[in-house]
Amino acid sequence: MAEPTPPPHFLRALVAADKARGAYGGRVLTRFPPEPNGYLHIGHATSICLNFGLAQEFGGECNLRFDDTNPETEREEYVSKILEYVEWLGFTPARVLYASDYFGPLYGYAKYLIQKGKAYVCDLPDDEISRQRGSVTEAGTESPYRARSIEENLSLFEAMQAGKFPEGSRVLRAKIDMANPNFKMRDPLLYRIKFAHHYRTGDTWKVYPFYDFAHCLSDAIERITHSICTLEFENNRELYDWILRECDIVDPPHQHEFARLNLTYTVMSKRRFLRLVNEGLVSGWDDPRMPTLAGLRRRGVTPESLRALAERVGVAKANSVVELELFDNLLRDDLNTRSPRGMAVLRPLKVRLDGWVGGEVDGTWFPADVAPPERFAGEQNRRRLPLGTTVYIDHADFSEAPPKGWHRLSPGGVVRLVHGPVVRCDEVVKDEAGAVVELRCVVVEGKPKGTLQWVDAATAVPAEVRLYDRLVKVERPTADDFIEELNPRSLEVVNALVERAVAESTEAHWQFVRVGYFFRDPVEAAAGRLVFNRTAGLREGWRPEGESAPAPAPKAPPKAVAEAAAG
Ligand code: ATP
Ligand code: MG
Repeated sequence: MAEPTPPPHFLRALVAADKARGAYGGRVLTRFPPEPNGYLHIGHATSICLNFGLAQEFGGECNLRFDDTNPETEREEYVSKILEYVEWLGFTPARVLYASDYFGPLYGYAKYLIQKGKAYVCDLPDDEISRQRGSVTEAGTESPYRARSIEENLSLFEAMQAGKFPEGSRVLRAKIDMANPNFKMRDPLLYRIKFAHHYRTGDTWKVYPFYDFAHCLSDAIERITHSICTLEFENNRELYDWILRECDIVDPPHQHEFARLNLTYTVMSKRRFLRLVNEGLVSGWDDPRMPTLAGLRRRGVTPESLRALAERVGVAKANSVVELELFDNLLRDDLNTRSPRGMAVLRPLKVRLDGWVGGEVDGTWFPADVAPPERFAGEQNRRRLPLGTTVYIDHADFSEAPPKGWHRLSPGGVVRLVHGPVVRCDEVVKDEAGAVVELRCVVVEGKPKGTLQWVDAATAVPAEVRLYDRLVKVERPTADDFIEELNPRSLEVVNALVERAVAESTEAHWQFVRVGYFFRDPVEAAAGRLVFNRTAGLREGWRPEGESAPAPAPKAPPKAVAEAAAG
């Protein structure tokens, strides 16, 4: 299912054009500017791929800059996690930098604006400032403090930084135009007073710059060329340019906006993740159901599939919602080529094989139609599987009264065991309650109706299997009620049996034949426990709660069965 390479997107074209006309002396320097107030998510991944990708493509560099200007919410823990996940995605920052390192120069630029008569200290409370901002049809009202002298502004601003005034009592504002059609230009706030302890600068600073002031100047200090951000900052661009112009920045960076990634069935904001974590609705930031990179990685999602997503969704100028299935398919494509095939039985049902001598059967790790990774090439792809006289198959693969078109086992039915013999079910053993507890099968010559995975009873190893599903059951979770929209069945834990070769292998990614793609949970593995997380199902077929499940017996054998049979 090879797709054509995506067409050049507008940012690519723009950087190419800038380079061609020699802008910035031919330099390309981008940056990825996360705020260290939470974990990165799949949306950030597209921004990372875009910024680092453009730099790579045009022989430039990309900085990782921590946009750490809000002391209350930022933490060192997040800094190290963000670094870890940028690298996990496959990128190496040219420099790792912090906006907080620029607090000194930024403070200097603020005073410079005051000295130019372009900024003033305003004593109005926050809500009053908002009220006086005006509306689309009405100009705002000028602050009564707008006419303060430069000297008074300077000494007040210095007193703010010296801790002489309480939090919230004063702000520094740009003196622009209260009638500007762009709200962002109506004397925007540049600095506020905060006494919170900053995780890097401690208690040195009592005034902290707002995003609009800090961001453009941080870009300028680093000599960024293309400052890429998401669409909601479109109206901030005018202010970005104004500040740089008033601060006399030579060869200033320019801001370009692209549409943020939205995915169906996915909540995508740190604030909401925090709620999920704090309310114990998930096990943590790295819960495999979370769209954080930490969660995705633990579920078994690969950096390659995330880069493929970024490339595929490309860069849009308008916001849209990408179907989660698109990502699932890219993920499956990637997992297909890297996951050896192993066998696992989620709900074991004992099967005695009469007439089977026992011993071993030949198999392969990868089916014939998949080019295996190097370590499985040629002879390395071959393997022997123990197959004794007792095996386990999945309960779901047996039906006493099968529906029409059943391709699995039933009384008198004939199936093949993957890599093994063809067997017929001759006897069904039940317990006192009437539940099926064992099948007696005989080896036969004959045409099987289907192929089933199995594990050898004597050597199989118990493993916990975590069947993860979508965290949210609605396509477009709403902002405030998403807690009610959580999928109550997003995790099912089963005690499964896996073949010994799987349990003893160092491989992390597996395709459990006919079951899905799984990943050995690294946290549990470190504690010596054998736990597999479902990364993805084999095919599409997810339905919201309440709708009936897909028909149990597919007409054609699923791809995995065909693959297994072919192998
Ligand atoms: P959140 O809303 O989750 O808190 P944020 O935008 O506040 O996200 P930042 O750490 O400020 O998070 O973002 C760092 C960079 O990642 C910014 O340049 C931002 O534009 C980009 N980014 C954030 N979310 C997305 C997304 N969904 N799609 C693409 N880029 C994103
Ligand atoms: Mg942010």
